[in-house]
Amino acid sequence: MARKTPGRKRLVTKAAGKSARSGRANKPKATKTTARKPATASPSSWTPREIAEAFRRFQAAKAEPKGELFHLDPFTLLVAVVLSAQATDAGVNKATPALFAVGPTPEKMAALGEDRVRELIKTIGLFRTKAKNVILLSQKLVAEHGGGVPRERAALEALPGVGRKTANVVLNMAFGEPTIAVDTHIFRIGNRTGLAPGKTPFDVEQKLLAVVPDAYKLHAHHWLILHGRYICLARKPQCEKCLIADLCKWPGKTTAA
Ligand code: SF4
Repeated sequence: MARKTPGRKRLVTKAAGKSARSGRANKPKATKTTARKPATASPSSWTPREIAEAFRRFQAAKAEPKGELFHLDPFTLLVAVVLSAQATDAGVNKATPALFAVGPTPEKMAALGEDRVRELIKTIGLFRTKAKNVILLSQKLVAEHGGGVPRERAALEALPGVGRKTANVVLNMAFGEPTIAVDTHIFRIGNRTGLAPGKTPFDVEQKLLAVVPDAYKLHAHHWLILHGRYICLARKPQCEKCLIADLCKWPGKTTAA
């Protein structure tokens, strides 16, 4: 025969007594209500067919999507992406033509020195740290990579100021690797639409890599960034202009589709 657990009974009684004293006994638990729509759709709500259809439409609308950062080659792309952290591409593009005119190679960039680079990029946010990183990464490219930009993720991420997102952009745009760099736009779209929900950019990246058909992986990054920048805006998504409105799972979308 099973024995009763006196301790458990005492605990329950004590808790009930506390509720009664605080006036909460027998009251149904309050349910929070909010007028705002949830920030995310339910996870994994897209079928493979829907995902393929979304990217088919992105491709039909823009077969060769391009990034908007001004650059001349892999080195200037790398520098431009480092400068774009927490800054807009348009803001970076205002400063980089003058910077790349005098520092088009790692050797020439390193020779400019930190003060000169800082002066040239002072209109960009976090310019002091970025100037330091641009000089350090240029020196490292000269010392360890013969003045070239490495094609390996680990070597890229070992450069000062270069994280996973920057490495993904360089691998994708400079070397044609099917990487997906998750920036603020892609993170939002992945979660909002239910296409690739995740708590971190890395989660969203891994989910996108798992669900985006191979044929669309090379350009997926740019299609999603452009979609987030011009249509699926953070504060007011323009669902009425959206190519994938009928597929999107966000409960707050403003179309009936
Ligand atoms: S329907 Fe609206 S929320 Fe959904 S992807 Fe399009 S713009 Fe974004």
